[in-house]
Amino acid sequence: MCHNFTNPDKTCHLCPRLVDFLNTNRQLYPDFFNAPVPSFGNLQAPLLIVGLAPGLKGANRTGRPFTGDFAGNLLYSCLHDFGFSTGTYQARCDDGVQLIKARLTNAVRCVPPQNQPTGQEVRCCGAFLENEIRSMPNLKVILALGGLAHNAVLSVLGQKKSAFKFAHNVLHTFDWNGRQINLLDTYHSSRYNVNTGKLTTEMFVAVFKTLSQII
Ligand code: SF4
Repeated sequence: MCHNFTNPDKTCHLCPRLVDFLNTNRQLYPDFFNAPVPSFGNLQAPLLIVGLAPGLKGANRTGRPFTGDFAGNLLYSCLHDFGFSTGTYQARCDDGVQLIKARLTNAVRCVPPQNQPTGQEVRCCGAFLENEIRSMPNLKVILALGGLAHNAVLSVLGQKKSAFKFAHNVLHTFDWNGRQINLLDTYHSSRYNVNTGKLTTEMFVAVFKTLSQII
């Protein structure tokens, strides 16, 4: 299997279950994007943010990572407040937001049923994630939103998960092909995590303060 691009073709069919799910959603929601969601932002940026996968009625609807559902509200707010983006986020892909110092992507580019990709699907889409990292010459830090994104990053960079356990607002540093990789973790900004208090606004802002110190 060979991938040379940061973004998969709209017809990528490497994960049959996800292709079936997209086809179902094309019938149910013909106005949705319903395709692998491309990364958003600047490949020259120092920051790559990695999420889990498009939400059915969020990024899978709008076609832009973290756009249109709860998880994007806090993220885009912090990106703006810490100077990583310009424009006013309005939960639409045509709201004019530009990521000047960041790039957003997902470990899995196609929406999975129940928001849960299989291990095989994460591995399959990992080739695109690896290409993202290879394509960012000025990358200083990768921010992983949640344990799945954290493990996906470690996997594509050939690191042992046991050596770098997921922990909120903890920075992991390792060498990859002669490059120093800084991997920072945060709990995912999902509605569930925020509503249960697992992730508060203050905790997420603290992560962005850590990012600002590194960058
Ligand atoms: S999840 Fe990734 S590898 Fe799988 S079908 Fe979608 S774009 Fe292709």
